[in-house]
Amino acid sequence: MPDLQYMRETYERLHQYPELSEHEFWTADFVAGELTRLGFTVRTNLGGTGVVGVLELGGSGRILALRCDMDALPVQEDTGVSYASKNPGVMHACGHDSHMATLLGTCAHVARHKQRLNGTLVAIFQHAEEIVTGAKAMLDQGLFAERKPDRLVGIHNWPSLPVGSLGLQAGPITAFADRFKVTFFGQGGHGALPHQTRDSIAMATAGVQNAFALAQRRVNASFPQTLSFGVIQGGTSFNVIPSQVVVEGTVRTVRLEDQETMIANLNQAFGAAAHLHGGDYSLEYRKGVPAVVNSTKVVEELTEIFAAKMPETPIVSQGLASLIGEDVAYYLQEVPGVLLLIGSGQEGAVNDLHHPRFLVPGETLATGYKALTSIVEGYLS
Ligand SMILES: [Zn+2]
Ligand SMILES: [Zn+2]
Repeated sequence: MPDLQYMRETYERLHQYPELSEHEFWTADFVAGELTRLGFTVRTNLGGTGVVGVLELGGSGRILALRCDMDALPVQEDTGVSYASKNPGVMHACGHDSHMATLLGTCAHVARHKQRLNGTLVAIFQHAEEIVTGAKAMLDQGLFAERKPDRLVGIHNWPSLPVGSLGLQAGPITAFADRFKVTFFGQGGHGALPHQTRDSIAMATAGVQNAFALAQRRVNASFPQTLSFGVIQGGTSFNVIPSQVVVEGTVRTVRLEDQETMIANLNQAFGAAAHLHGGDYSLEYRKGVPAVVNSTKVVEELTEIFAAKMPETPIVSQGLASLIGEDVAYYLQEVPGVLLLIGSGQEGAVNDLHHPRFLVPGETLATGYKALTSIVEGYLS
């Protein structure tokens, strides 16, 4: 299989030159060069460093979009492999190099079989996935302005699935990932004379407890949701009650209505805590990336395609949902599609994304390639 060799070399090359989100300059150039060589019409600098390649296959067939991501992480690589990162402090620790290699291999396959395929392939190489800004930036800059694809498939390697398997689950599989910052306003004073103050630390601790209680009592437990605090800041001395405390946290939900409930809960929890101690609060809530919701119809179509073209591959269809954020969600709000997970877990290896010793096994490239070429054959034949 010439594409497998090409993918392996491409993966190792990309792995050596990782670039941080919104700085994927070398990567975008490399990808654009490969797509051009394969006969794709290429647009670069879309919404930043985003690249998209389009290959018209003739006929009036469907438009299929395949999406991968290009950015790396601020991680110092510790794998010791011969093709380790040459950029100090930056590493492809999330396997986006493998996603690009898989999609380029698929593009090579399509270019070679152009004569017998129909429709249009749109290959999206998205920047800035780790900071979840790339997808929206590409869409805002008109990625689908001329024509919307009929289907979109995004890929991500998944170390909690064994190599050689695929993960494909209908419905929400990642979360609305939001952040908030609440400030409690009181009146400072001496620690020995709390009755002369309005204690902002008391407000903050009560606010945290209230929020946990409401998150557990007021949101439908049939749907995953969680709330965590990551910052609590206030005060300068052990015996001085501060006038102000700032608390920050994150909310994860999988449904719009739960997100709305959580915002209402936070206001109620913090308001009650502030008023109990005679103070006030202000909540800044920043909605982040929406949940990835895999289309049931597309899941059914892909399940049929995989059963016909790669029946030996195990497909995991349950238990894949997590409360991470993934910006493939923005495309899936416009086009029916899925985030397809490609098993990259190995016994005895580091199986954690973002870990300084995480590497994507070669078999993952092969499985991803088989899956994507099957999808192309399924939709564009
Ligand atoms: Zn990541
Ligand atoms: Zn990733």
